[in-house]
Parts: sequence; C-alpha cells; structure tokens
Amino acid sequence: MDQEKLHVAIISSPGMGHLIPVLLLGNRLATHHHLHATILAVTTQTSYVESQLLASLMDSRHINIIKIPLVDISNLLHPNDAVVTQLAVMMREARHGIRSAISAMTHRPDVLIADVFSSESLPIADEFHMRKYVYVPCSARFVSVTTYCHVLDEEIKGQYVDQREPLMIPGCDPVRCEDVPDPMLDRNNQQYKEYVRMGIDFATLSDGILMNTWTDLEPKSSDALKFNKILRSVVKVPVYNIGPLTREVEESSSKKSEVIEWLDRQPLESVLFVSFGSGGTPSADQITELAWGLELSQQRFLWVIRPPAGSSNDGAFFTAGTGTDGPPEYLPEGFLTRTQRVGLVLPLWAPQVEILNHRSVGGFLSHCGFNSVLESIKGGVPMIAWPLYAEQRLNASIVAEEQKVGVRPAVLPTKKVVGREEIEQMARRLMESEEGKRMREKVKALGESAKEALGIEGSSYNSMCEFIKCCEKKMTRP
Ligand code: UDP
Repeated sequence: MDQEKLHVAIISSPGMGHLIPVLLLGNRLATHHHLHATILAVTTQTSYVESQLLASLMDSRHINIIKIPLVDISNLLHPNDAVVTQLAVMMREARHGIRSAISAMTHRPDVLIADVFSSESLPIADEFHMRKYVYVPCSARFVSVTTYCHVLDEEIKGQYVDQREPLMIPGCDPVRCEDVPDPMLDRNNQQYKEYVRMGIDFATLSDGILMNTWTDLEPKSSDALKFNKILRSVVKVPVYNIGPLTREVEESSSKKSEVIEWLDRQPLESVLFVSFGSGGTPSADQITELAWGLELSQQRFLWVIRPPAGSSNDGAFFTAGTGTDGPPEYLPEGFLTRTQRVGLVLPLWAPQVEILNHRSVGGFLSHCGFNSVLESIKGGVPMIAWPLYAEQRLNASIVAEEQKVGVRPAVLPTKKVVGREEIEQMARRLMESEEGKRMREKVKALGESAKEALGIEGSSYNSMCEFIKCCEKKMTRP
C-alpha cells in the first residue's frame, strides 16, 4: 500500500442497500481520485444473490474490505423494534469491532466516513487523529429534513402526519406531512428518537456531509443546505453533492440473459418495468389490482414479482432475493396466459441496471428507493412513483413534483390500495401520452446532466475534489 496516498475508511451498516452505496463510494475514490479505500462492513448473513452482487462490485485491485462480525444484540432488542432502532442498536454495539479494526491496521486510515446508521462511531476518528465525515447515500431533501428535524421537534406539537400545513425547512420546498420519512410517522416510537439524534450527529459530530445527489436534480435543497442562513445555523459543516454514484451496466462477454433477449424483441421504449426494489412487497390485494391495471392498460410490461407482504411493505429488508421462486399463484387467474404476448413476469430479482438502460424500456413503476430513482434517471426512464417505506415518499416528491419526470397515484400506496383504473390510467399517461413523452425527454436531459456532473470538472467531480482537499489540508498525524 502506497503510504503517501490518502487512506479513507468507510463504515457500512448491515444490508445490501447500505453496503452497495458504500462500495460505490470506495470504488469511486480509488479509481477516479487515486485514494486507498477500506470498507468496514458490519455484516449479517449474505444470501447467494447478494454475494453475486458483491463480487461484481468489489474491485479488489482498488479497495479492501474488512468484515466486522455482528455481535449478539438479541437481549437489547424487542421483536417489534422498528428498522431504524434495530440498525442504530446494531451499529452502537459494533463500535468496539470498528475501533479494533482501525487500531489493527498497519497503514492507518486518515479519514473515517460513517454511513447513515453509524454516526455514533464518528468520535472514534478523534482517537486516531482522523478526519470524519458522514456519507448519506440519499437525497439533499432527505438530509435537509433529517438535520432540521430536531428544530421541528421543538416547534411542532402532535404528530407530523396530523399537521394541516406542510413542514417548512428553510430554503427548501415544503414537505407534505404524509411524505415524511418513516421514523417521523410516530413521534412516540424509539426510532424517532434515534432519527432525531442521527440528524444532530450529521450536522455537529462530522467535518462534513457527503450526499449521493447532484445539483441539477435538487437545486433548491442543495442551495439551502449550502447557503440558507437559518439552515446553515443548524448544519454548520460543509455539504458535498458527489453523486449520482450508481451501479453501471456490466460489459459482459457471457450469454445474454433471457430477460434481455425478451427486451431485444420489443419495440423502442414500449415496455413498462415494474419493480419494488430489493425488499418491497405490496399486499395481496394490491398485487391483484396491479395485475388488472397492467392488463387493462394494454402496455407491454416486465414485472419483478415476489410473494405478497403480510402486514408490512418491507418484508425482506435485510436480505435480498430470498424466498421461494415457485409459480406466482397470487396473480389473478389466467393473467399470465392472457398477457403472455405483451408481458413477462420474473420472480424475485432482475438485472435492474441493464433493464433500465435497454432501449425497449420506456417507463418504470418504482418504489422510489433512491438507488432505483438514480438508476432510472441515468437510464433516461420516466417513472410511476409508488413509494412504500423509509424515505421513499420524499424521493417520490422529487420525481413527480420537483422534477416532473413521473406520475404518482392520488393515494399513498401504503395507506390505501391503488385501484386498477388508476393504475391503467397512470400506465397509459406515462407510456402513450404527450405528457409522458415530455417527461421522457426531460428525464433524458436530466440523465445527461448526471453524467456531466460526474465527468472531469463536472459539479459532483469538483465537489469530491474539494472534499479530498479538505481531508489532505487538515490531516494531522499523531
Ligand atoms: N435491484 C436489482 N434487481 C432487483 C431489485 C433491486 O438489481 O430485482 C437493485 C437496484 O438496481 C438497486 C437496489 O437493488 O440498485 C435497490 O436499491 P433501492 O435504493 O432502489 O431500494 P431498496 O431495495 O434499498 O429499497
């Protein structure tokens, strides 16, 4: 290892949705900015699909990965604890392992980057005279809400979702109360307390916040976080737009997959891709309505389907691609036969990035996980924004209201079943109408702006250089 190079250690909390953005950041720092990157990955069990994904992302020529085994925390958690509470507890207990891993390194890292759930590890950086940053692989809108939440906590009485007026974050577009991230839905839940604490940590414990977005996607929130006086009195540290870092289409010489061969046979921009991310699982009733809506719309579709959820919409949060892959008996009778000329249903998992970059794909019905939103925009594909959990409602508001590169159901899919007629109409609007055409043109331009932002001298490239310069300048070795 070249001792002269800046060495960055990045902590990842468990779950593919957390590890992938961290790996992408590590790869980017190593390949485009010639830094050393070590990933400190707090891990749970990895499924086969996850291992395959990891193998494709891990470029071991450039980055090291150190696995930090998860300590037994079963006595600290209640089975009903929410996801954010669980992750916060896991990462609190992982601090000892993280400290030991850093201490054992012969080439000590100069910089520690914590992911969203590991901000309580930032003080470890002080012990080793390292600079310390937070990487939030989400939108600037999310960062503004999260860091400002402790102010809202003092100003607003009662539940946020019961407010009559939207939430006002200085300098940002108003946030509809029903669009707040999950931890803000119930102020009495422990995960709300963790979330408020995380926002304070980001803005006060770190030397800066890295966000996986770019200025053209979120000009208003990005500007507010950087320049709005009131917001800056809360977020005192620099914020850097360094995105959109996403997985790219792999150049593979191996045989094309069946799904890509199917897409090859479809007309240009004619297929609506339907997928709810790595863990999204709509209810049985919703799946029935979705099937009818797709059929009635008479659009071509490619649907990644998994068994319906019981009570929650995020059944497979910690693992991807698990479950059975038997015939989808939960679809309406005869659906597969009636739609076989225009539709393809895939169980569990699909090569999403490849699909979104295929010429035949013209729309994406998405749960609006931020990676999916970024991948769709980079692929030039407009969306039906169908948020389910986490901060996806905020992401949907960027897609449908701020950028107008998508449509959104009138009701929140987590509260009410979206009916087949509305689904039919949204599919037609997106795939056939003049409005859909305009959205497609706009999203393609936005996709181009993403590529420019990441290119040499682009806004995100320059922002990353600025961050690296700060790390180099203020670095003090013991
Ligand atoms: N993904 C995929 N195939 C699938 C489902 C998901 O490749 O069938 C990938 C997708 O491309 C994205 C990630 O898994 O990179 C999902 O991340 P996102 O933030 O969109 O949502 P999450 O799954 O974390 O809710």
